[in-house]
Amino acid sequence: MSSRPAKSGPDLLQKQLDKLFAASPAVHFILKLDASCVNQCGRFDWISHNVSSVMGCPVSLALEPDWWLSRIHPDDQSRVITAFSQLPLRAEMYCEYRFMFHHQSGYRWLRDQRSVNGDVSNKTYEVLGSWLDITDTHAAQTRLHEREQLLRKIIETEPECVKLVDVDGNILEVNPAGLAMLQTSDPGEIVGQSILDFVAPEFKSRLHAVMRRVISGEPAVLEMEVIGAKGRKRRVESHAAPLYGPDGRVSSLLMVTRDISERADAESQVHYLAHYDLLTGLPNRALYRDRLLQAMAQAKRTSTLVAVMFLDIDHFKDVNDSLGHAIGDQLLKEIAQRIRACVRETDTVARFGGDEFGLIQTNLNTVEGTADLADRLIKEIGKPFHIEGHEIHTAASIGVTIYPFDDHNAEDILKNADMAMYKAKREGRGRYQFYIAELNKIIQQRTAIERDLRTALVKDQLRLHYQPQLDLTTGKVVGVEALLRWQHPERGDISPVEFIPVAESTGLIMPIGEWVLRTACQQARAWQDAGLPPVRVAINLSAVQFRHKNLHESITQALSESRLDPCWLEIELTESLIMKDVRTTIETLQHLHELGVQISIDDFGTGYSSLSYLTRFPISKIKLDKSFVRDVDKKDGAAIAHTVITLGHSLNMKVMAEGVETVEQLRFLREHACNEVQGYYFGRPMPASAIERMLTGSLDGLKARALDLE
Ligand code: C2E
Ligand code: MG
Ligand code: MG
Repeated sequence: MSSRPAKSGPDLLQKQLDKLFAASPAVHFILKLDASCVNQCGRFDWISHNVSSVMGCPVSLALEPDWWLSRIHPDDQSRVITAFSQLPLRAEMYCEYRFMFHHQSGYRWLRDQRSVNGDVSNKTYEVLGSWLDITDTHAAQTRLHEREQLLRKIIETEPECVKLVDVDGNILEVNPAGLAMLQTSDPGEIVGQSILDFVAPEFKSRLHAVMRRVISGEPAVLEMEVIGAKGRKRRVESHAAPLYGPDGRVSSLLMVTRDISERADAESQVHYLAHYDLLTGLPNRALYRDRLLQAMAQAKRTSTLVAVMFLDIDHFKDVNDSLGHAIGDQLLKEIAQRIRACVRETDTVARFGGDEFGLIQTNLNTVEGTADLADRLIKEIGKPFHIEGHEIHTAASIGVTIYPFDDHNAEDILKNADMAMYKAKREGRGRYQFYIAELNKIIQQRTAIERDLRTALVKDQLRLHYQPQLDLTTGKVVGVEALLRWQHPERGDISPVEFIPVAESTGLIMPIGEWVLRTACQQARAWQDAGLPPVRVAINLSAVQFRHKNLHESITQALSESRLDPCWLEIELTESLIMKDVRTTIETLQHLHELGVQISIDDFGTGYSSLSYLTRFPISKIKLDKSFVRDVDKKDGAAIAHTVITLGHSLNMKVMAEGVETVEQLRFLREHACNEVQGYYFGRPMPASAIERMLTGSLDGLKARALDLE
C-alpha cells in the first residue's frame, strides 16, 4: 500500500505533463553540452513528445544527434551553430534565436529560447529550451517592418513638409523637405520645439484652434505663414490629421504642409491688378464702388453721413500734349500723394483712370468738414508742381454728393457726383460743387456764418435779450431767460437756431457760451445793484459746454466776478443732452447742484426721458415745450400738457410752460396748476433796459385779470 501512492505520484505527474505538452504550441527540450558532444551545439537528452505534432517528427528521430541541425535552413545554419556553440563561453544564461526550420510542409520560422545551467570548471552544461513556430507572427512583423520602411522612404523623399507633432504642439519628427522649409538641415534645431515658434504671430491663435480641432479627432486645413529658422517667411497650406495611440486616443498629429507662396503671390497680384491703379497705387473704380457700398451700409447703421467726391484735373491733357506722357504720369502720382495727404487714414482715395479721382469720406456728422476738405484739395492741387525742371500749374474741379441726402443707390450717387463735378467745371473750374442745389446753398451759408461768427465776439455783434418768466400764482416776474442775438452787419439779426449749431460744430460755442454766462450773471447782479427786485436769470447750455471739463470752473468764475449769488442763476439743459451718458451727467449735475445753481430741463417732451433717471437728477424744474402749449386747445395736446405737469409735480419739480401766446393757453395752465409761464403773451425776448421797466411796473389790467389777480 505504502508504495502505491509513491508509484502513482510520478505516473500522475507524467500524465499531467503529457497533457500539458500535448496542448502546448511550443516543443520543450533538455540538452547536454560536454566534451562528449559530437557537435558543439549539444546532445538532446529529452524532447517533449508534441514534437511529432508540432514539427512533424517522431521523438525518437528528434533525439538523433544531428536531426535538428540538419533541418535548419542552410542560410541560417552557420549563424545558429556559432551562436549556440559560443553560448557557454559567453556565460550567457538565456538566449533567443530565430531561424528557418524544415517542417514536413516546408520551411517554417522557429523561435528557439534556451537557458543554460552548468558547471563552468568541468565544462558540462545543461540547456533547457523550447521551440515555437512563429511563422505567422514573423510574416506579420516582416510586413509591418516593410511597410514602415516604405513609409519612411516616401516621407523622406516627399517634396511637401511632413511633421509629426505631439498633442502639445511639440515637433517629434520632420522630413528633409520640412527642414528645408524651416531653413535648416539639422533636425536638432527643429525637433522638440513648439510648432507655434515657426508661425507668424497673427496666425498663432488660428493654428492653436486648428490643433484643438484635430485633437478632438477632426482633420483640418489651415492657410498661414511660417517663419524659417533664419527668418524667411513662406505662405503655406497645412493639412493636419490625428494619429491614434493603442488606447484609442489621439496621441499625435500628422501635418503635411505645402508652400503656396507663389500661388498666394499670384493671387494677391491678380487681386491687386483687379482693384488698384498701377500708376498711383490707389484703389481703382471697382474697389471704390465696393468701399462706397460698405460706407453706405455703415452710415445707415450709425446714422452718419458719407461724402462722395469726384475730382478732375483741369487741362491735364495740355500737360500730356506739351510735356509728354512720362511727365504727365509723374504729375498724376504727385497729385495722388497730395490728395492722400489731405484726407484721414479711414477715407478712400481712388483713381478712376486718366485725370479722374474719387474720394469717400465716412463717419461724418455734418457736411461742413466736406466743404473744408474740398477747399483744401483745390488749394493743394492749385500749388505748383516741380517735375524734371518744369513748373506745372494745375487746378481741380470737384463734384460732391452726400449720402443719405442724395440717392440711396450707389450707381446714382456716383452719377450725381460726376454731374456735380461737370457743373463745377462749367462754372469756371478750380472750384467745388455740391450735387443738391439746396445743400449747396446751406453749405455756402454755413461757411459764411462760420467765417463771420469767428469775429462776431470781437466786433461786439452779440447781444443778450431777456424774456420774462412769471409766477402763475403771484403774477410777478420771477425770472428771465437770456437768449442770444447776433446783429450781423449785412444780414441783420440772425436767429440762434441758425448759428448755434455752427458754433457747436466749430468749437466757437465755448468762447460764445462763456460770454453769455458772464454777461447774464453781470446783468442779473446789475439789476440787483440798481435796487430792482431780484430775479433769476436762466441761460441755455449747449452739450459741448456741458461736457467740457472747464464747466464748473467757468460758472464759479462768472458768479464770483459778478458777485451774483448762485441761487439767482439757472442752467437750462435739453432732455436729449442729459439722457446721453447718464453716469457722467449725474456727476456733473451733482457738482452744479452743490454750487447752488438751479437746473431745469428745456423743451421737455421733445426728447426721450427715462423716468428712472429723472428721479436721480438734482433738477428743480421742467419746461414744457412750446409745441405742447400751442396744442392745449386740442384733446391730445391737453392730455400731454396735463400729464407733464402732473409728472413734474410727482417728481417734486416745478413746471414752467414756454411759448404761452394766448389767454386760453394761460387759463388751461392755471387750471392745471402749472407753476410758471414764459411766452409772447407776457413779453418777447427784449433788451435788458426793457426788462427793467417790467420789473418795476405791474402787469396791465387785461393780463392781471387773466391771472385772476384783480
Ligand atoms: P429755447 O431755449 O427753447 O428758447 C425759447 C425759444 O422760444 C426762444 O427762441 C424764444 O424766443 C422762443 N419763444 C419764447 N416765447 C415764445 C412764444 O410765445 N411763442 C413762440 N413761438 N416762441 C417763443 P430763440 O431766441 O430763437 O432761441 C432759440 C433757441 O436757441 C433756444 O431755445 C435755445 O435752445 C437756443 N439758444 C438761445 N440762446 C442761446 C445761448 O445763449 N446758448 C445756447 N447754447 N443756446 C441758445
Ligand atoms: Mg431755453
Ligand atoms: Mg425751450
